Amino acid sequence: MGQVTKSAQQKTGQLVLPGERLGVIEEFVPDTGTFVKDGVIFSQIVGRALPDLATRRISVYPLIREPRVPKIGSTVVGEVSNVQSENAVVRIFQIGEKLISGVFGGVLHISDVHLHYVDSMFDVVKAGDVVKANVISDKNQVFHLSTKDKELGVLYAFCSRCGGTLEPRRQAMHCPRCGNIENRKIALDYGKGLVKD
Ligand SMILES: [Zn+2]
Repeated sequence: MGQVTKSAQQKTGQLVLPGERLGVIEEFVPDTGTFVKDGVIFSQIVGRALPDLATRRISVYPLIREPRVPKIGSTVVGEVSNVQSENAVVRIFQIGEKLISGVFGGVLHISDVHLHYVDSMFDVVKAGDVVKANVISDKNQVFHLSTKDKELGVLYAFCSRCGGTLEPRRQAMHCPRCGNIENRKIALDYGKGLVKD
């Protein structure tokens, strides 16, 4: 009995490889990430061995979890941090419907904003806006974005004069607080929250 505990403790949290011996069925009940051959329990995967001393189950938990990084085709949400005449820089904070802790940098080029020609980036987004976009390229770890689809574009826009939330009205955006009128390329679900459905 003392030996069992010792062997279990030795394996706890230990990095194991596929085919590595974890123990015998007299000691443990094989659980996820393991297989048994001739009464011996082996790891099936690369991971950390976690024996449960109360239930006497032994499992191996995968070491590598899929990192949350934008991919080509991902729909992302971010805050516009800087706007130039032909580019806008976006700090991506959401991939799909999941918020991410790390912030990735995205770039929206003027040719990827609309299906039609856009004269100036300042008619599309402003710093501080929240935009939804698709990742179209990830060359050199820079995520190039597109807002061409009608579902994509600005989700929240703020008045550059008073900071109020702009409301879409006919072809332009209107500030109910100060009456300012601005332009944006808004998403279909403008102002309806960040999470879909
Ligand atoms: Zn205003």
